[in-house]
Parts: sequence; structure tokens; C-alpha cells
Amino acid sequence: NGSILSLVQCLTCDRVSTTVETFQDLSLPIPGKEDLAKLHSAIYQNVPAKPGACGDSYAAQGWLAFIVEYIRRFVVSCTPSWFWGPVITLEDCLAAFFAADELKGDNMYSCERCKKLRNGVKYCKVLRLPEILCIHLKRFRHEVMYSFKISSHVTFPLEGLDLRPFLAKECKSQITTYDLLSVICHHGTAGSGHYIAYCQNVINGQWYEFDDQYVTEVHETVVQNAEAYVLFYRKSSEEAVRERQQVVSLAAMREPSLLRFYVSREWLNKFNTFAEPGPITNHTFLCAHGGIPPHKYHYIDDLVVILPQNVWEHLYNRFGGGPAVNHLYVCSICQVEIEALAKRRRTEIDTFIKLNKAFQAEESPSVIYCISMQWFREWEAFVKGKGKDNEPPGPIDNSRIAQVKGSGHIQLKQGADYGQISEETWVYLNNLYGGGPEIAIRQSVAQLQDPESLHGEQKIEAETRAM
Ligand SMILES: [Zn+2]
Ligand SMILES: [Zn+2]
Repeated sequence: NGSILSLVQCLTCDRVSTTVETFQDLSLPIPGKEDLAKLHSAIYQNVPAKPGACGDSYAAQGWLAFIVEYIRRFVVSCTPSWFWGPVITLEDCLAAFFAADELKGDNMYSCERCKKLRNGVKYCKVLRLPEILCIHLKRFRHEVMYSFKISSHVTFPLEGLDLRPFLAKECKSQITTYDLLSVICHHGTAGSGHYIAYCQNVINGQWYEFDDQYVTEVHETVVQNAEAYVLFYRKSSEEAVRERQQVVSLAAMREPSLLRFYVSREWLNKFNTFAEPGPITNHTFLCAHGGIPPHKYHYIDDLVVILPQNVWEHLYNRFGGGPAVNHLYVCSICQVEIEALAKRRRTEIDTFIKLNKAFQAEESPSVIYCISMQWFREWEAFVKGKGKDNEPPGPIDNSRIAQVKGSGHIQLKQGADYGQISEETWVYLNNLYGGGPEIAIRQSVAQLQDPESLHGEQKIEAETRAM
């Protein structure tokens, strides 16, 4: 997944507030004639639309890019397509998407520092580039009464779509260019039409057209002239391919090595498919103590791959992460913890059943304690080994079933989801878990309870019987 950094700047006090959002795809507007003119003038004069706005990223590309772009546009403008209006490139759509938006008039935003509605500028940058970049062009506009389609031709590169101009400073991606994988096109109007797709066979580079059940080989110029609706790009991976070949040749050297290294299979799969796999993540099969968690040991072969020393060292120097693992053993610390936890469960459940049996047998207990069924179910899941993470619950939380009277006396709330337990059980659980507040019903009061509120007692009984 990719992520985007959105910034809003107050034009009065210059305060910038930021938010980070992840994205599955980018939905780009198709700029009209006027927007294009504005975008291009902002580019050519090297003047951002607003201070700190997205225009500055063009400036960062420097003179060369500026001149190349200028010549390209000049050449493009001399070709016959000039008659059909200005050429719109995918880069223009990206620039329009990442360009600054003024927030003014009805759109003013409330500045946290000024504590007032202010004029501002909003813009965004890419923080993290995804492995697969999905770009959706907003070809359909839906008005109240009707919908229409923008069928402007948008040119797009088959290779080397560069997202560098739109990256935030904090972006860590090394590879910023993308190659086209496939294009989905929409033929027809907003009301009706159908879709066709072009996909590349990544092994031989051949393009195919998919139209209903018909698949035909097509030349790449056909793809280039398609009226793109959705585009799928993948990170240019020439370097990654070279990297993999290097690892294969290292592995084939069969150097005498005394040490064998275990590496996360999950990470190695990433290395084999992603342009940027990131640091080695051996924690996918290790516990916090550096051993194998007991529950993972029986399928450890599915989690690791054995590497010779030279391959490990190469990968480790190149990608970092780790840690280095030379032998696999079940973690004894984890083992002891698991056994202690199992024993604790057994003790708690046995004690509860014993105390609760005694409570059920009592004819008319002088005092009854109330416990939140929500907390009780969490505890029950823990002692039965069904809880999430096998973790014990937090302190007893009776706040939802308690009601504080004017006198400060704590009473049971009407209709509360609660269970009745004996004083001994309350003391036992409260010593173990703490929390509260304590809600006790004295016998005289208990008799006044309406029958409906007694259903909690039934629950505790039913659930403990099932234990
Ligand atoms: Zn402000
Ligand atoms: Zn451990």
C-alpha cells in the first residue's frame, strides 16, 4: 500500500497541519484547457501557485528537466493533434491531483492556531510508493440531472512513469519509476458502454487485448493510443532483477561454509517479487527472546529457508534488518511462560467452580456481589484458552453496571448485564485482577429485585456448567 501526506497551511499564521492516509489507488482529475494553462505556467515560471505548494517539486528537478519538457511540449504542439486541443499527459493529471487547492470563501478551514476560519492552501505528497500503482482517471462526471463522460485523450508512458516530482521529502522509496502492466479502457458513453483491457506478458513483453472472451496479440502502439480509464503500473524492477540474478549466482558458488543461516521465507518471497522488499524480517518466525515460539516449532520448515553464509551476508549487507539466525531451538523462556499460564488458568477456573458451587447451594445468601458480564466473558475466554492472544483480561470493570446514588452509595444499574457471585468469589477475583467498583446487594434489597434483573445469575450458572 502507498500512503499520502496531506498538508493544510494557514495563510494568516503559516501553521501547517498534516495527516497521513493510505491509498489503494489514485483517482486523478483530467484537467481542462484552463487548468492545463495554469499548471503549465506554474511549471515554466518556476513559481509555485502558493508558497510551499506542490509547484516547488518541479523546481527541484532543475534546469535540464525544464528544458527537456519545454522542447517536448513545443514538438507536441507542432503536430496535428494541436487542432484537437492541447495534449494531456498522465503527468498533467498527476500534477493537477497534487497541485495546491485554495481553501477560501465557503471552503475556508478552521486554523488550530488562529482558532478562526481562515484562508488556506491544501496540497499533498506521496509518502510511500506502492509496489503496484493503480491510477484511475475520472472520466465520468455525475451531475444532479445527468452524467457525462470526458473522452479527452490522455497520453501515458509504457515505461518509466516517474513519481519523483510528487514525493514528500520524508519518502524513503529508492525506486520512483513505474512500468505499465495493464490498462482498462471504457468504450461508449456515460450511460452505456463496455470495457476492454490491455495486459502485458511480463516475461516476453508482448501486449494482449482482452475484449469479452476474445484475446488478441496487439502492438504496443495500440496500447499507447488507448483511451485509458484505469492504469496499473508496477515499480520498475530492472535493478531488482539484477539483484536476484546476483543472489542466484552467489548461491551457485557452493563456497565451503561452516555456518548455515535461516531467513524468513516470507521476506525471501518479497525479495523475489517486490522491487523494494525492505529490511530482512526474521521476526516472522522468532519470539522476542530470539528462539522459536513453541506453537510455531512444528511448522518451522514452512517459515524459514536455509541460506549459505555468502548469500546471507550479501543480503544482510544490502538490506539490513535481521537478526542473523544460525540455529533453531524452541524458546525455553516462552515454554515456561506457556506452562505457567496454563497452570494459572486451571487454578482460576477450578477455584471459581468450587466457590460458585458453594454459592449455588446456599439457600439465601445474606449478600450477593454483582459482576459485569462483559468482563466475566473476557475472563472466561482467557481461562478456557479462547481469548485473543491468550492474554488475561484487565482489571474488573463494573463501571457499566454501576450507578452512583446522590449519597455516594453505589447501586446496580437497572437492566445491567451482570452476574451474581458470592462474596468469596468476588474477593478471589478482585485480589487477582483488582478493579471495581464493588457492588453488593444485601439480602433485604435482593428480595426487592424484579425478576427480569435476575437473569444475570442464570448466565453465570449456565456458563460455568459449560466449563
Ligand atoms: Zn492560522
Ligand atoms: Zn521466547
